[in-house]
Amino acid sequence: MPICVDRRWPVLLLVLLSTACGAAEESTAPEPASVSTPYGAVSLPFVLHQIPDAPVYYIVGKSGVPDAVNEGHTSNAGFVVTEEGVVVFDALGTPALGYRLLQRIREVTDQPVRMVVVSHYHADHIYGLQAFREHAGAPTVLAQRRTLDYVGGSTVSQGEDAERRLAQRREALFPWVDEHTYIVAPDRVFDRETSFELGGVRFQVKHLGPAHAPGDAILLVEEYGVLFSGDVIYGGRVPFLDSPDTDSEHWLEGLEYIAGLKGQLRYIIPGHGELAEDAQQAVTATRDYILYVREVMAAAVRDLVPFEEAYRDADWSRYQHLPAFDASNRGNAYRIYLEEEARSF
Ligand SMILES: [Zn+2]
Repeated sequence: MPICVDRRWPVLLLVLLSTACGAAEESTAPEPASVSTPYGAVSLPFVLHQIPDAPVYYIVGKSGVPDAVNEGHTSNAGFVVTEEGVVVFDALGTPALGYRLLQRIREVTDQPVRMVVVSHYHADHIYGLQAFREHAGAPTVLAQRRTLDYVGGSTVSQGEDAERRLAQRREALFPWVDEHTYIVAPDRVFDRETSFELGGVRFQVKHLGPAHAPGDAILLVEEYGVLFSGDVIYGGRVPFLDSPDTDSEHWLEGLEYIAGLKGQLRYIIPGHGELAEDAQQAVTATRDYILYVREVMAAAVRDLVPFEEAYRDADWSRYQHLPAFDASNRGNAYRIYLEEEARSF
């Protein structure tokens, strides 16, 4: 069971380190009502969790789509502390949240942030990079090569038009995303996989896309048995499939790959949702959802049933209670319908 820490004071740190937080995983320290950052105040709890017996930490976002209530805090991020610096995985959905993540890192270690590995270029994972560039000495940002399309502003890149998404977030997430918010491009890109070592810890980064997005990357820290899966694994909400670049076939292959890592993994930190301890179990929810939507839509395409009718008549009861169902399910189904249609020609 992971422990959780809120390390604003060294004494508290010692107390917490010697006291398992137990199943609740909640910080015992009171959270201030609101923490100011150079990018606006963050009023949500921002609990730092730690993997047991490892210098690996993570933050869990709220389920649902980014809005003013959740302040854009919908995705997960994490970091690994080594003797020569910190490696961060993903940067959260606003510069303010990126800054909060940086504050949490500073509570744990004085080591410089050397690298930010990005799971994929979607707004909810990258806007926080701005805070790292401006307040953490501009660490190297590493991502898969295909994320460059997003930064380049191609209208069909990464399943979302970067400029249009930024405009939408400036509305939906103001004041945390405003006219000063910008997209930080990767400094280093890789194609199939890459690895590096820092402070004696080996980091393996692998391209698992195109799945959820063209540039999906996962980070394996074998020494601690930890996998940061990005959005290849979605927990606690309906996954987002509704983009022209989503490749459900390849996504399923990626999930199989992760399930196959079983023996090497103690923990999986997904792109959304809670920490998972079982690789097979972790992939199940995402895989079953994709398989179900594909099954329903494939049958509709095969029987020449128009989408509207197929969607209306489908049984969504096992998913409609999940967060993001209203926001994502219909679009997902339509996207898969189109995919199945294209496959049928
Ligand atoms: Zn995401």
